[in-house]
Amino acid sequence: MKDKYSREIDYLRISVTDRCNLRCIYCMPEKGIDTVPHKDVLSFEEIARVVQASALVGVKKIRLTGGEPLIRKGISLLISKIKLMPEIDDLALTTNGTNFAEQAEKLKHAGLKRVNFSLDSLQKDRFQYITRGGNLNKVLEAIEAALLLDLKPVKINTVLIRGFNDDEIIQIANLSIEKPLHIRFIELMPIGTSQAWASGRFIPAQEVKDIIEINLGRLEKIQKPKGNGPAHYYRLNGASGTIGFIPAISEHFCRNCNRLRLTSTGGLRPCLYSEDEIDIRTALRGGASLKELSEIIVSSVQNKPIRHSATGPGDDRSMMYQIGG
Ligand code: SAM
Ligand code: SF4
Repeated sequence: MKDKYSREIDYLRISVTDRCNLRCIYCMPEKGIDTVPHKDVLSFEEIARVVQASALVGVKKIRLTGGEPLIRKGISLLISKIKLMPEIDDLALTTNGTNFAEQAEKLKHAGLKRVNFSLDSLQKDRFQYITRGGNLNKVLEAIEAALLLDLKPVKINTVLIRGFNDDEIIQIANLSIEKPLHIRFIELMPIGTSQAWASGRFIPAQEVKDIIEINLGRLEKIQKPKGNGPAHYYRLNGASGTIGFIPAISEHFCRNCNRLRLTSTGGLRPCLYSEDEIDIRTALRGGASLKELSEIIVSSVQNKPIRHSATGPGDDRSMMYQIGG
């Protein structure tokens, strides 16, 4: 389906929960969040119905995210429901990896095709600090499990924070040489708990690229690995993986945006930064037909702004874990 700026929208990102087992300093408040009552959260049947309706109007790619999608019980059941839909040709997951290794085989068996892990530091204590309690080894085990199970391309999301983890750029970039991993350096966005300090800690993607080239050699521009994301991809000489940059702030990639988002409570959002949310839950629970649901999806797509508004502090209501980062 096309939006009013002729962009083809074929990708739905679904936040299956806004809860998380970690509290990354740039994402969630230390004390956690006010949890949404269970009755307000879409059931797997309801999510699957939205996916089915979205497939009717051209959605082909699904990503499950959150909050932390792997703390939602029985998530493989949702994956297996989506797997049965022939129009959906890409089914991916974004996770902090902490609960991945023990579920990996089940997820793969259910139909998961690929996975992105968040990893902001390779130092145990620093990792624990940034995630407020996370265990680095669990994430490293998760990455190995995903590689073993061929859930590829296996992508690593790294948010860089000046003066905090920018001294690890080289080491993290090196992972793409050692293993078939696709590292994506993400610019810190002024959203969630980082709003107050993000601008002073911001590192533009170009600066990161320069640091890598000075230290590890030329980055050769390449085609994107599977998944039509906003990253620009490069390869270091002899590397089995790639390095991508997501210039969320320094460069507007919105002209190529192909996505729509569904919150855990059934809000359709045309843009991460838009508060223009359409409720699909009421229609779902009121017995709307697939066609009626797909019309609601099309109306959300028609509200897609030409570009996001994130140049300065965002809106307090805009939390990555709610919208599905
Ligand atoms: N819990 C899962 C995880 O951490 O991968 C999925 C949800 S998380 C909100 C998705 C992605 O959003 C993560 O890679 C995280 O680093 C990123 N993220 C959260 N807050 C961000 C911010 N202020 N700026 C840039 N990226 C952010
Ligand atoms: Fe949780 Fe992911 Fe947010 Fe970290 S970035 S607090 S893991 S939702």
